[in-house]
Amino acid sequence: MATAVYPGSFDPVTLGHQDIIERSSKIMDKVIVGVLKNNSKSPLFSVEERVNMLMSVTGHLPNVEVQSFDGLLVDFVRQCGGDVIVRGLRAITDFEYELQLSQTNRVIAPNVDTIFLTTNLKYSYLSSSIVKEIAMYHGDISAFLHPEIAAKMREKMDHF
Ligand code: ADP
Repeated sequence: MATAVYPGSFDPVTLGHQDIIERSSKIMDKVIVGVLKNNSKSPLFSVEERVNMLMSVTGHLPNVEVQSFDGLLVDFVRQCGGDVIVRGLRAITDFEYELQLSQTNRVIAPNVDTIFLTTNLKYSYLSSSIVKEIAMYHGDISAFLHPEIAAKMREKMDHF
């Protein structure tokens, strides 16, 4: 039984994230999506909102679970009995940070490895921050988010 942990901010979950979750769920026995609580990026959506949004877009995948976590990623991985960390790679700009993160994690937790899935070409440009920026100016975000998530995003922007 191999369990993967896919960590991130998911502020909010995009179609790029969903693609990584769906692909990992086909490779692994179980995928736990870990939503980071103490985020230095000061998220737009609360951790509860982010968890609920992820649950609603992954509900059709029986081997996917969503949990929030605080503190060190490797501690969370150990707590949930994870074997590997999954991360997505878009452009070369992701690589430097992801390499540093995975190597640091390997030093502090030698038994936890990181695997990378390269982005689906369709979503290679896509990030939560770009989507937030478009939404802030009331641009069309329907190509980037699940319809339910896009609706939540519009609702959020209306309260700004
Ligand atoms: P973090 O703050 O940890 O970078 P994100 O929510 O931005 O959290 O991203 C979580 C993971 O998903 C990261 O590994 C990131 O590289 C990956 N990711 C984000 N957007 C995409 C995308 N469009 N295609 C593939 N992977 C992506």
